[in-house]
Amino acid sequence: MRAVSILVAFAIVCVVVAAVTAARHADEMALATERQLLSRALQSYGERMQREVEAVASTEAAYRKIRLDLDLDWMQFYVGQRLHSYFGHHFVFVMDASAQILIAALGDRRADPGWFNSVRGDLDLALGQLRAPIAESSGNALASAGPHTTAHGITSLQSFLGRPAILAAVAVTNRGDGKSIEASQAPAVIAIKMIDGDVLSEIAAQLHLRNLRESSSGRLAPDEHIFPLINQQGDQIATLTWTPNRPGAEIISSVVPSIAVTLGSFALLAAMVLAYMRHTAATIASGETRLRHLAMHDYLCELPNRVSFSERLEATITHVREGGLPAAVLCIDLDHFKDVNDTLGHPVGDELIRAVAQRLISTSSKTDLVARIGGDEFALIASGESDHTALLNGANRLINAICAPYLIGNHTIVIGASIGIAVINTRTTGSSDIMRHADMALYRAKNEGRNRACVYDSAMDSDLVKRKQIETDLRLAIERNELKLVYQPIVNNSGETIIGVEALCRWTHPVHGEVPPSEFVPIAELSGMITDLGEWVLRRACIDGDAWPDIIVAVNVSPLQFRRADFVDAVERIVTETGFDPTRLELEVTESTLLGNVDSAELAMFRLKALGVRLALDDFGTGYSSLLYLRRFPFDKLKIDRTFVHSIERAADAAAIVHAVVSLGRGLGMKVTAEGVETAEQHLFLRAAGIHSMQGYRFGRPGPAADISKRLALPDSFRISDDIVPLTRAG
Ligand code: C2E
Ligand code: MG
Ligand code: MG
Repeated sequence: MRAVSILVAFAIVCVVVAAVTAARHADEMALATERQLLSRALQSYGERMQREVEAVASTEAAYRKIRLDLDLDWMQFYVGQRLHSYFGHHFVFVMDASAQILIAALGDRRADPGWFNSVRGDLDLALGQLRAPIAESSGNALASAGPHTTAHGITSLQSFLGRPAILAAVAVTNRGDGKSIEASQAPAVIAIKMIDGDVLSEIAAQLHLRNLRESSSGRLAPDEHIFPLINQQGDQIATLTWTPNRPGAEIISSVVPSIAVTLGSFALLAAMVLAYMRHTAATIASGETRLRHLAMHDYLCELPNRVSFSERLEATITHVREGGLPAAVLCIDLDHFKDVNDTLGHPVGDELIRAVAQRLISTSSKTDLVARIGGDEFALIASGESDHTALLNGANRLINAICAPYLIGNHTIVIGASIGIAVINTRTTGSSDIMRHADMALYRAKNEGRNRACVYDSAMDSDLVKRKQIETDLRLAIERNELKLVYQPIVNNSGETIIGVEALCRWTHPVHGEVPPSEFVPIAELSGMITDLGEWVLRRACIDGDAWPDIIVAVNVSPLQFRRADFVDAVERIVTETGFDPTRLELEVTESTLLGNVDSAELAMFRLKALGVRLALDDFGTGYSSLLYLRRFPFDKLKIDRTFVHSIERAADAAAIVHAVVSLGRGLGMKVTAEGVETAEQHLFLRAAGIHSMQGYRFGRPGPAADISKRLALPDSFRISDDIVPLTRAG
């Protein structure tokens, strides 16, 4: 752009310089012509004077009156006075052959020749030239005004009485008989005209020279030109000045306005083009900035995206390795975000992401970098912190901020979050490693019950390997039908009658032995195998349950399984295929199934109810259930989580909660089942509290279907033992 400006300026300067140079050249040519014309004009003036003098001096009468009669009056009248009055000659001298002044006419007066003794030199010079041989005299003539010599006369530019003058001298040689005498022996008439204002005005008018004058003071106007008058001896006798015509300057001044307008328009056009180019360049630059911003930021919440997060992470790792302050990466994963998107629509989901981003920013420190690195994944680089406790405290603050309810549109939304933390230290090899560590810690946090934070430790590496192996093995086990179902009795409040069973899945790993469902169910959920697993469990339970026509068969349903759009169809298909009575089927869902998913969960539930299927809310009291949920969903049963049951004897508030849940269930028309009943005291308390049914080791551990068949066939085969020893894991 600078180059274009320079080019345009250069072009303008070239045009101006060319115009000025051309004008100056034209002016110089014009001046040279004027000088030449002035020289010629002076010469012509002399020639004209000479012709005027010849007119009176070359007559036969003149020869007679001057040479023979010496008639001074005649000379005064016919020569002096005539030349003055007809032609304006200022001085006229008639000289005899011996160069004596016969008469000296000063204007129309006759003057004493003696007056002119002081200027005899000037006259003698002219006379000498007149009488010299022609070849010699031709060299001594008018100098700068141009010499002119004829056989009978000469003209000369010279000083007279100290002033510049033109002198014309003519020899009186015409004898009248057709012969002439030698000029050297002839009298002569010399006429002089001072170069005064009149002479100069005449020449000026003739040549169109402005202000032609004689400059004696030497002071000149700035635009005047000097023309020295040089006599034949080469001396300067005067200086003429005039204001030369300047055609170039005139042309310039006449075309200047249009040139100025043209150049102005050109400059304006160039300026406009430059401005446009500058504007375009600025637009492109801002577009580039915007593109870079877009490339580096999340379009939805404006947080830095994965690309800029990775850049910053690499820089942080390098910084730490070079001895800078320690740092940590926190990977934050939202729970149930997908449900919000699926059920409330993407605009609400988008709004939720923005709200989460805001909360993360306001909860984290200003030096931290918060980024969105995936759909519901955020990450944070905490600079200057490596202490595990401090990192966990910070992560818990983030979780609390994220878990607080959101009000978006008319919806109150509750989501959860898990955080995996990996510390960057001098041994950190690269960003992929640190992200893998943070992911492992995140997985652990989710596995430990969600809404938690976990810091990576090296033991997790082997956990991960094991988990991957288990995942592969589980897939094989499902394919090979190696999973088993066990059933745990659900009894009435006296504990004597089995009113139902809960199907619980069991997997005996060929190497690791029994893998608890709390371990393999999340793996199945994360790897997507849960649908197959769930359908297998449901089908198996329906087949086995067919043998127990009077009791309820409860089957656990994973949230991920329940939220599938085809879940109800799958249930309908399986009960139809197996011929199981749907009114004896009870599906147990946990509270997390309902989170963020309210409308579609409600619809699925009503469709299940329409099939006749019963619904139970499992592990009640451990999640987020609100009374609103309970009222809204058509649950038939609440299952009080075993942690409350176990606390009954130790914590008064747990007992109070059990009481409250029982009356709540009654109020909402739901049955209440207590899980994990192990002792006679718990049994007694729950019975007194008005619980409808119970489940726990006190009434039977989970066992094969044959055990249930046997107990149903022979109710007395099982005896409640009061000294039962609680086991930590179902067997
Ligand atoms: P849940 O549905 O609450 O099942 C009850 C759990 O409590 C079972 O653990 C059972 O063995 C255990 N339990 C029963 N009585 C007592 C007792 O008196 N004391 C103690 N300490 N525990 C008792 P289990 O079989 O390990 O299952 C754990 C969880 O795994 C289940 O909790 C359920 O949420 C899940 N699960 C089990 N099978 C399946 C399945 O087929 N599908 C799905 N989605 N989840 C399953
Ligand atoms: Mg259950
Ligand atoms: Mg339970």
